[in-house]
Amino acid sequence: MKIGFIGLGHMGSAMAANLVKAGHHVTVFNRSPEKRRKLVELGAHEAARIADACRGEAVITMLADDAALSNVTLADGGIVASLPKGAIHVSMSTVSVALARELTKAHADAGQRFIAAPVFGRPEAAAAAKLFIVAAGEPAAVETCLPLFNALGQKTLPIGPEPAAANLVKLSGNFLLASAIEALGEAIALVSKAGVDRRAYVELLTATIFPAPVYATYGGLIAANRFEPASFTAALGLKDIRLALAAAESLGVPMPLGSLLQRRFLRLLAQGGENLDWSALGGLAARDAADAQEPA
Ligand code: NAP
Repeated sequence: MKIGFIGLGHMGSAMAANLVKAGHHVTVFNRSPEKRRKLVELGAHEAARIADACRGEAVITMLADDAALSNVTLADGGIVASLPKGAIHVSMSTVSVALARELTKAHADAGQRFIAAPVFGRPEAAAAAKLFIVAAGEPAAVETCLPLFNALGQKTLPIGPEPAAANLVKLSGNFLLASAIEALGEAIALVSKAGVDRRAYVELLTATIFPAPVYATYGGLIAANRFEPASFTAALGLKDIRLALAAAESLGVPMPLGSLLQRRFLRLLAQGGENLDWSALGGLAARDAADAQEPA
């Protein structure tokens, strides 16, 4: 397919590379131009402006947050102003339910189509084309984009015709991941301060009652106290908890654990953790416990 790709950060650079490798005609745009270069070397075409990435059947966005996606989509010279009628904007960023609704309407008013397709999986999974893609929007538009999703992920999970539903599902998933990180951090701090080996403890858990990848990945990082380089920053993690709480408030759903996680992220950021991996949330408990076994 002839497509554009906007947002070449940790995730987007790996995803755009896989689309090029799969044989799609990909035109890339990134706010900071130096990140476009590596993709051009791989065979992508460079867009000097957002509009130049909006000349194909679809444009994918993989941007940091609501402010970035809103600006790229709605500003003068943005996607709504540039995309041909009938073409599809595939929003893969983790953004708010409210923004997904706003963009659904803005694109419909302009005769364009909008689908949301946020992903589960870190940059390593993006590079290996192993993402899980939660897709929602008009079924024909989702179907049109399947060749793109097949190049990006190991599985695409359709979740209905309303794009915002995919964003809500994604936010709920990140709430669960952050909950697991906090719980792992507290459990590891507990046994570690009593002298139990942290790595052996995580191996025991993941070989028995918690065999899920989330415990192996984050348990390993917390046990090793290895929070740099960040694959997913703590700042973006806080953003997602905030967005989950905003959706919960508008739906009238109390999420007390979500409120606790927001306060834990704020503590991490206040102590300079903004650019650490979000698994650093799981390092707070050991610090609170002044655990001597905590690796430096
Ligand atoms: P990232 O490395 O911080 O990249 C963010 C991208 O957004 C960059 O291309 C950046 O451009 C662009 N951007 C930021 N503010 C902008 C603005 N105001 N106008 C235009 N462009 C702007 O983030 P990431 O880790 O790739 O994550 C991207 C999205 O995927 C986020 O919504 C995140 O929550 C989600 N996600 C991430 C992971 C993960 O593990 N990293 C996993 C699943 C989902 P510059 O290069 O110019 O700064």
